[in-house]
This record gives sequence, C-alpha cells and structure tokens, in this order.
Amino acid sequence: MRSRPLIGLVKPKAVEHIICEEQLCRRATRGGKRWCPEHVMRSPYAQHVAREDARRQGEILDVRTRGSKSIRKDSGVLEDVRNELLISGPRKVAKLSYWLKAEGLDSTTVWSYVIEARRRGLIVSRGVEGDLEVGHAW
Ligand SMILES: [Zn+2]
Repeated sequence: MRSRPLIGLVKPKAVEHIICEEQLCRRATRGGKRWCPEHVMRSPYAQHVAREDARRQGEILDVRTRGSKSIRKDSGVLEDVRNELLISGPRKVAKLSYWLKAEGLDSTTVWSYVIEARRRGLIVSRGVEGDLEVGHAW
C-alpha cells in the first residue's frame, strides 16, 4: 500500500514581520534587517558603497575611452587587479581579462590597467605582449 504524500503536513516557514526602526516609518523589513529596504539604502554605509560604485564605474568608462591616464591614484580597480594576482598567483593577461569581464572591463581596458599597474610597480610581468603573464609585485 502506498503511503500518502506529505503535502499539507509540512509546516510553512514562519514569516518574520519586523517593522523598520526608523522613526515614523511603519514599513516591514526584509531578511532580518532592522530597517526597511528604503531606509537600508539611505544608511551612510549604503550611500558610501553607492558612491564608490559610481566612482568605479565612471573610472572604467573613462579608461575605456581615454586610456590609462584616467586611472585614479586610489583606483579600486587597480587594487582589485593587484589583489587578484596576490590571491591567484601569476596568470596570463588573457585569463585576467576573462576574470575582469565580470567587472565590466573589456580586454582593451584591462590592458590599460595592466600597463598602469606595471608602471606603478604593483605588478610584474614576463613574456611578450599577446602572451604576457603578470603577477603581484612583492
Ligand atoms: Zn523604513
């Protein structure tokens, strides 16, 4: 004899309804946060992250159109390239390009960052252009 399926017997997960802690706001929060989505986005940290992301995207766009001279002194992308090579070890620029594609960088833009990182002594390279391997500079 087949046993009956358990459909209907499984208790639904308890839904947490928490009200935003911002004064006069009565909206529900999500994911266990203390503020509603709107007030989460208004927090100084979220504003900071949004500003940094806008700066980063602006720089990438400038580098794409004007080349490596548009890379800022405190470029987060350059720092990411350096950190990626520190974690992963030396790799070919083609492989680095593949990884950076997710960040919205095309291969020409990646080259601009590689050239600038090398100029600043952040990375070292060996091989020839087209088959260049880059690594974190110690
Ligand atoms: Zn709120």
